[in-house]
Amino acid sequence: MKFTDMGLSPELLDGIARLKFEQPTPVQATVIPAILKDQRDLVALAQTGTGKTAAFGLPILQMLKREIKTPQALILCPTRELCMQIARDLEHFSASMHGVQILAVYGGADIRPQLTAMSRGVDVVVATPGRMHDMLRRRRANFARIQHVVLDEADEMLNMGFEEDLQAILSDVPDTAQKLLFSATMPKQVAAITRKYMKNPEEITVGTRNAGADNVRHEYAVVHARDRYPALKRLVDFYPEMYGIVFCRTRQETQDIADRLGRDGYKAESLHGDLTQAQRDRVMKKFRAREITMLVATDVAARGLDVDNLTHIINYSLPDELGSYTHRSGRTGRAGKNGVSIALINMREHYKVKHIEKTLGRPFIQRSVPSGIEICEAQLLALMKRLSEVSPEPGLIDDILPLLCKNLEGVSREDLLRRFASLELHRMLDYYGKEPDLNAEPLSPPGKRAGRGQRASDSDMAELVINLGKRNGLSPKKLMGLVNAVDRSSNIAVGRINITQMQTYFNVPSAAAQGLIDGFAQKPTEFDGRDVRVARAGQGDPAKRDQKRAARRKGGAQRRSPERSKQRRRT
Ligand code: AMP
Repeated sequence: MKFTDMGLSPELLDGIARLKFEQPTPVQATVIPAILKDQRDLVALAQTGTGKTAAFGLPILQMLKREIKTPQALILCPTRELCMQIARDLEHFSASMHGVQILAVYGGADIRPQLTAMSRGVDVVVATPGRMHDMLRRRRANFARIQHVVLDEADEMLNMGFEEDLQAILSDVPDTAQKLLFSATMPKQVAAITRKYMKNPEEITVGTRNAGADNVRHEYAVVHARDRYPALKRLVDFYPEMYGIVFCRTRQETQDIADRLGRDGYKAESLHGDLTQAQRDRVMKKFRAREITMLVATDVAARGLDVDNLTHIINYSLPDELGSYTHRSGRTGRAGKNGVSIALINMREHYKVKHIEKTLGRPFIQRSVPSGIEICEAQLLALMKRLSEVSPEPGLIDDILPLLCKNLEGVSREDLLRRFASLELHRMLDYYGKEPDLNAEPLSPPGKRAGRGQRASDSDMAELVINLGKRNGLSPKKLMGLVNAVDRSSNIAVGRINITQMQTYFNVPSAAAQGLIDGFAQKPTEFDGRDVRVARAGQGDPAKRDQKRAARRKGGAQRRSPERSKQRRRT
C-alpha cells in the first residue's frame, strides 16, 4: 500500500513527501485506514520506533474540523521528551495545512506559558498525564469537544505510576470520543484500562506480541563480575562507530560508570532521576548532537527517549524487571535500521537470558568479549575508513609535503600502506596486546556465535588450533609473531583468538589456512621448548598428537627441556 492510496488529503501527502517518507511502515499501513474508516476504538500492540506517531497522527490531523476552536484531539504519552517529539512530528505532518494549532503540555517546565497557549485555542493537545491532570484540576482545559484520545506507550505510562492521572483525564473526555491505545506490551493494568474505557476495540498486532523489533540482534557475553567494566570498554573500543545507550540498574551505578568512562576518555554522560530537568535537557542535547556518543542511563530515565540511529544498546546489568529489556532493546533498530542489544551477564544469570528469550520469542546469541587483537584490527579498519574519507585541508601540510615525499621516495603504495598499518597496529598492540581474555566461559560451538566472526564473516574464516596455550605463555601478540614467522607475506589477517590452558584456537581466512598448516609442518618452529603444531580445529588435537609422537620417539619421554631444544636447533 502507498500513502497516496489511503485517502489522505493533498496537504498531508505534501507533509509526508517533505519528510521523505516513501512507503508506509507496517503499523501505518494497518492503522491509518482503520482510523479513517470509522470511529471504532483501537488497541495496537506495536513497538517504539515503528512509525506509530504518523499512524495515529495523520488520520487525526485529517479529521480535524476547522470551525471548532477547543481541543479535538488529546494525545497522552509518558515523558516530556516524547511529548515534545510527537508535537514536533505533528507540526511537520501538518506543515501544509492552514493554521493547525498543536500544543505540548508537559511537567518540569513553567505551566504559565502552557496555560496561556491553551486559552488562545488549540486543535491538538499532546500531554504527559501528570501535567494534564493538573491543568484539568485548575479548570484550564476544555475537553468537551474532544473527538480522539490517544494513549501512546500505555504500558510505560502505567509503569511510571500515571494510572490515577489517566483515569481522571479519561473521565473528563466525552464518552463518544474515539480511544486509540498503543502499547509495546499488554500487562494486566493496560488490559484493565482497555476494558474500562474502550468499547469493543479493534485489536491490531504489528509484529509478534511482546516481540522485540525484528531488526535488533540480541547478544550476550559471560564475564566475571569484576570484569564487567573492562568488558564494556572493550565493546566500546571494538565498535568505533558506536552510538548507544548503556543501561544500568541503579542511579549510583549509572553515575559511577559514566564517571569512569569520562575519566577513561570516552564521550559518555549519565541520565538518571537525580538530574534536574535542565541537566537532563543539556545531556540529551549533547547526545543528539553526538558530542557524546554513549548515554549511561537507568530504565526510568530513558523511558520515552526518542533518538534514532542508535547502533547499540548495552545492558551493563540486566534489569530487575525483566520486561524492561523489551523497552531497552527497542531503543535501537528503529525506522528500519539494524541494531544490536548486548547483555553482559555473569555465570549465574543464564536463566535470565533464557527467560527473556522466551518472552521475547527471539534468540540470544552468545558472543565473546573482543580480545585485544580483535580490537586493534577493528580500530585499524576504522582508521583506514577515516583515511579513505578524509578530505585534507589545503595549506595545512602543503609546506612539509615535498619533504615527506622525498623521505618516502621509491616506496610503493602497498608498501606504504603496509608500513603505516604495521606502525599503527604495533602502537595499539602495545596497549591492548597483553590484555587478558575476559570471557568467563568458552563460547558455544561455532555457528551459534556472534561477534567479530560476523564482521569478518565466519564463513570466510577457518578455525585452526595450535598446541600452545596459557601455560606456555602464549599471548595474541606472540601468536601473531609465530604466524608471521611462518607466513612469508606477513599478510594473514588473524581473526578471533581463544587461548585456553593447553591450546589456542584462532581464525584465519579459509584461503590461507592450508598454506599456514603446511608452513608450520615444513618449517620446524619451537615455542616454550616444544615443537609448534597447527591443525584445523576439530580434526584431532595437535597437543595430543604431539605428545603421542614424542612418546613414540622417546619411549614415553615428556616435554623436551628448553635447553635441549636449543641444542637441537643448533645442530
Ligand atoms: P515513531 O515510531 O513514530 O517515533 O517513528 C520512528 C522514526 O521513523 C521517526 O524518525 C520517523 O520520522 C520515522 N518514520 C516514520 N514513518 C516513516 C516512514 N513511513 N518512512 C520513513 N521513516 C518513517
